Amino acid sequence: SEDAFAMAGCFPFMSGGAAAGTADRGKGRGRVYDNVTETVGNTPCVKISDAICPKGRTIYAKLEYFNPLSSVKDRLACAIIEDAEKTGKLKPGDTVIEATSGNTGIAVAMLCAQRGYKCVITMAEPFSIERRKLMRFLGAKVIVTPKAGKGSGMVAKAKELSEKHGWFLCRQFENEANAKFHYDTTGQEILNDFSGMKLDYFVLGYGTGGTFAGAGKALKEKLPGIKVCLGEPADAPLVASGTKSERNPDGSAAGSHPAFKPHPIQGWTPDFIPKITEDGIATTGYDEFVPIPGEAAIQMSQQLARTQGIFTGISGGASMYAAVEMAKKAPEGSTLVAMLADTGERYLSTPLFAAISADMNEEELEISKSTPSFQL
Ligand code: PMP
Repeated sequence: SEDAFAMAGCFPFMSGGAAAGTADRGKGRGRVYDNVTETVGNTPCVKISDAICPKGRTIYAKLEYFNPLSSVKDRLACAIIEDAEKTGKLKPGDTVIEATSGNTGIAVAMLCAQRGYKCVITMAEPFSIERRKLMRFLGAKVIVTPKAGKGSGMVAKAKELSEKHGWFLCRQFENEANAKFHYDTTGQEILNDFSGMKLDYFVLGYGTGGTFAGAGKALKEKLPGIKVCLGEPADAPLVASGTKSERNPDGSAAGSHPAFKPHPIQGWTPDFIPKITEDGIATTGYDEFVPIPGEAAIQMSQQLARTQGIFTGISGGASMYAAVEMAKKAPEGSTLVAMLADTGERYLSTPLFAAISADMNEEELEISKSTPSFQL
């Protein structure tokens, strides 16, 4: 499969096929590329200091914001668009459509811009404004669906438009190319990076579940003792409650499962369990499960910024929170790797920046008085 990706022009650092091993560490960057989509993947794993990591344990963060459009979803866009090109589902000049909370839309818009496809994105209203702006900046047309319809509403709208106009629908929540790409890249990268080292836990949440099902499978195959640890927002307990959907069987939201409340962990847990996640649970499964309060995710993202200089979004904070919870229970000497899916810069208008936004008003006041009272 490495050869297949090398042929597709992605992952030039793997073009040596079997040569992609420890010897190739770090070779994926700092070289010449034919186009920006070739720079997707090969993201670094960075050690977390004891300001966050429990004593006697080691946590690494896999920083997906090193991808060209700053999220793990750049992988998914490569996976789906290149698969559609290879199988003849996508031809020059075609239109691509997808339903997305934002990161996928930004990534798909990038791929479409680079390859000359038209791009239409449906997105539910509560997701952040900067994501919408970024998609439009990359040339996509954005259709915002009503807040009440949530994740299911934007998916239904994309399907409707695709059927009506014959546009190529990415189907990120079901498309098999999604998990396969994570098996071939994310999973193999972690195996390469930790070869010769001990790795005991793989910690992440699920959006589509592509990372969980694909990379989880690759790691379980090669490291049978590894524990896959799945996180979920405490306020969207789809797995924890045994409810596969937040919605009633007739598709309506009113009066649905009482445990569901709005949660700030954008990109994690749409209001249904995607097929890819279900397949992942049914096949390789997970060994540990962590419900994550939204506020804990936000606080951890702030802590990562202030104690590590690692600038990740709310789901990155959630993932690290889950890793720390796991590390506390793990035997001494354990090594964990947590997926940090995107950059904090994508959350300037969200609760992640609420405290900063409030502070700014005060600072501006101080400056206007020319007598700053705060000290460094
Ligand atoms: N975090 C964020 C911010 C995301 O956008 C996504 C993808 N929706 C994920 C995590 C989860 O990735 P996956 O779709 O592979 O489960």
